Amino acid sequence: MLRIAIPNKGRLSDSALDLLSRAGLRIQSRSDRALLASLGRDFQAVFVRASDIPEFLADGAAELGITGADLVEESGQDLTELLDLGFGTCRLVVAVKEDSPAQRPSDLPAGTRVATSFPGIARRFFSDLGVEIDVASISGAVEIAPHLGVADVIVDLSSTGSTLRVNGLREVGTILSSSARLLARPDCLDEPEIRRQVDGLVLALESVLRAQEKRYLMANVPRDRLEEVKRIIPGLSGPTIVDVLDGNGWVAAHAVVDADVVYETIAELKEVGAQGILVTPIERLTP
Ligand code: AMP
Repeated sequence: MLRIAIPNKGRLSDSALDLLSRAGLRIQSRSDRALLASLGRDFQAVFVRASDIPEFLADGAAELGITGADLVEESGQDLTELLDLGFGTCRLVVAVKEDSPAQRPSDLPAGTRVATSFPGIARRFFSDLGVEIDVASISGAVEIAPHLGVADVIVDLSSTGSTLRVNGLREVGTILSSSARLLARPDCLDEPEIRRQVDGLVLALESVLRAQEKRYLMANVPRDRLEEVKRIIPGLSGPTIVDVLDGNGWVAAHAVVDADVVYETIAELKEVGAQGILVTPIERLTP
């Protein structure tokens, strides 16, 4: 049984479990504080802190893991990234107090004190810039450090930027963009049986990720407007056109459409006389 390390709490935990469940891997009977649970038939979930997952993988406690790219980078572990899972998106940024004259990280003077929970990444970033910094390594609530006189600058994660603003901080640069990733310990991918199982999991997750961007649309359209319908809903390989029994000049058109433009698509179909438009989610999509 392959073990997948999954964040036991925090921002990534629910989304990771939700995605696995949509791919058909459901947690079976997990008590609240359990460290292990079976996940579908072939996998076992190991619940640990998101920040410990790179280390757990490297140490052989699990073959696969889900955690943030930022945490993998900070750990310095050599892990194989199998898939960008699309949730937990954020950026690791450099921020200064609002009244600081600095406009970009390279403006910061030598000896600047930087508070961060990413000491490794921060050191490397400023060293590459040729700016010598002094790192204050703290594990949480980094954004209050400048107000407590602990640091002049922070390196911290931001998704909307509102935490920085509320704390009177101004972003002056991005170090990296992050999101949750499916990771593997590189050596275990050499084993054919493990590789086969991992490939199956990746395929299932990819099909779910692809499907969440799409919708299945069905509409009754006048047969003599089919050329325009084809232009509006090209689908994956042209819309499927189905006869409507006693349709009298009407046919049903089915196609996979982009979720983010579905409202425009419906309006355009209405313009060519479509009726009975039905839009449904897709569970999985494999081209
Ligand atoms: P946790 O500390 O368990 O809540 O997980 C933190 C992880 O969630 C980070 O390492 C990032 O990969 C991700 N994340 C996404 N957005 C944010 C954010 N705005 N602040 C902190 N972490 C975030």
